[in-house]
Formats: sequence, C-alpha cells, structure tokens
Amino acid sequence: MRALTVVEPGVIELQQRPALAVDDGLALVAPQVVGVCGTDLDIIDGTIDPNFVRYPLVLGHEFAGTLRSASGEVAAGTRVVVEGIVPCGVCVECTRGATNRCVTYDEFGFIRDGAAADLLVAPHALIHPLEKAVSWESGALVEPASVVWRALTRAAPAPGSRVLVVGDGTVALLAALLVRQFNPREVVMLGARPDQAGLAGGVGADRFVTAPDSAGRGYDLVVEAAGSAAATAAALAAPGRGGSVVLLGYPGAEQVNLPVDDIVNGDVTVVGSFAYTREAWREVVELLNSGALDLSSLVTHRFPLSAYAEAVATLRHSTGPRGKILLDIE
Ligand SMILES: [Zn+2]
Ligand SMILES: [Zn+2]
Repeated sequence: MRALTVVEPGVIELQQRPALAVDDGLALVAPQVVGVCGTDLDIIDGTIDPNFVRYPLVLGHEFAGTLRSASGEVAAGTRVVVEGIVPCGVCVECTRGATNRCVTYDEFGFIRDGAAADLLVAPHALIHPLEKAVSWESGALVEPASVVWRALTRAAPAPGSRVLVVGDGTVALLAALLVRQFNPREVVMLGARPDQAGLAGGVGADRFVTAPDSAGRGYDLVVEAAGSAAATAAALAAPGRGGSVVLLGYPGAEQVNLPVDDIVNGDVTVVGSFAYTREAWREVVELLNSGALDLSSLVTHRFPLSAYAEAVATLRHSTGPRGKILLDIE
C-alpha cells in the first residue's frame, strides 16, 4: 500500500508499505478522498506544537472512504467517515461528552497514521456511515465542518441574528454556510482575498468585504476563522451589546490586545472552541444524510495522491479562488 509520509519536518514522501490488516477490535477503511489544510502544512514544516504530532506520520485527518470489513452493524462496502480524534472513552472529559478534550490526545494524521494512504485502521466507535446521496466531497469536509459546527452550537445564535465571519478560507466558508442552519437575518464575510468573493456568494454569504470598516459593527455573533492577530482584533471589535465572539483561528505566537472595557460594557461573550466533540460530528453527518446540507461546492482543487507535491504547492501558493483541496486516493 501507498502512504504519504512525513518522515520528519521538511521530508515528505509517498512510501510503499506492507498492506495493513486488522483484528476484531478495529475496522479497515480504504480512504477515497482526503482533504489537505493549513494544519497539514504546519505538520510538514514542523511548525506545529510538538505535543500534537509524532513523526514519522502518514498525513490525512479529513477524509471519507469505504469499509473493507464489517464494523459492528455497518457492512463491508459502506461509504463512511471516521472521526479524526481518537478519544479514550473513559477519562473524565470523554465521559461527559467532551471528546475534543480527552486527556490522552490522539488523532489520525497527527499522533497516529492518517488517511493519505490506500488503507487505514480505526476503532469501530469512530465509524459513521454516509447515505448514498452524500458526495465524496461532502464526506471529506465532515472534519472541518464538525470543528465549525461545534463552535456554532456553543454560541447558538438566535433566529434573526446578524452574523460576521472573519476569514475567507475553508473554515470561514464553512462557518458562513453552516450558520444558515440557525436562520440568521444576515451573514457577512470579512476576508482578505478579493478572489474569494465568488466562493463566499456560493455558500450564501449576503456580503463579502475586505475592509473592517465596510463590515461594520454591532453583530450578534462574530466567528473568527482567519487565525491572524489582525483578524482576531477585527473580530473582537465587531460584536454589538450582548453579542458573542467565537474564536476558531490560531494566531500562533502573536498576541492580541483585548478591548476589555468594550467587552465588559457590551456584556459580550468571548468563547474559544477546540476541534469537535463526537456529538458535533454526529450532527454534521445527520445534516448531510438528511439532505439538509451539502458541502460539495467548497471543493475547488483535486489531485491524485501521486501528485501530492502539486497539491501541497497549491495550498501554499495558489492564486485565484481556493476552497478545499482534495487528494483522490484511487
Ligand atoms: Zn484540517
Ligand atoms: Zn478520554
């Protein structure tokens, strides 16, 4: 089997390995599509927090595939998605449903081998079947969609809310799309790349602007999905009284001034949200399986696994509109 391996920071190669086999405790999955994202670049470059990775590792934490062996009630041949975080299931966080905060951090494509390979093994509990009508593209986007969904459910905007999404990458586009499930009155995206305007319109944003002044203020919910200090500062300046700011992006080592007076006087809620819980994952899969959600339009680039270098280069440097970049495994 082939496996796209980061041997050590800066060294990535498509390796040939003996095919994986499984015992009763695990499911065998043939990945079909694997998304790549900025976090994969951090893993390749070694700029990610070393506590979250173990080299050498096979890349791939956003994926959908086909079951090769039955998994509980789910028959072989079923199209599935697999939770990327592998929670222990017994710690204090897991037992209260906070699988995103499991005290033993473990995740495909970070700590254990990921899905950019011909085969992957996974615990049965992580397997979620997809209905036939759900596209592979939607399946590949369940992981980042669950990250966004978990954040939105924490904020739970009331119907009729005005929502500002700061950012213009895949996570921001997913936020603009998924927040529609809460029946907002208006969704505005504040991006940095004018080329993303078409994708923003495609996910239903009412307006796409690139200057904070054009976005205005007074929002009921602000979602920070860009991960820079400037974007975070813009997000913290945008809520109205009683509004909420949900922080999803990582500005890295950059520090951001907190406008404490405005937050206190405005009765503003500021929330951080890390990854996704099993519940959030289940809800996203339900939205897809019921036909209430389709994420296919967010995919703008596809490459065969063998052209991984081109996929990574596109993620780093591409100009023009860019949504999710997928690797096709077969
Ligand atoms: Zn990702
Ligand atoms: Zn746990």
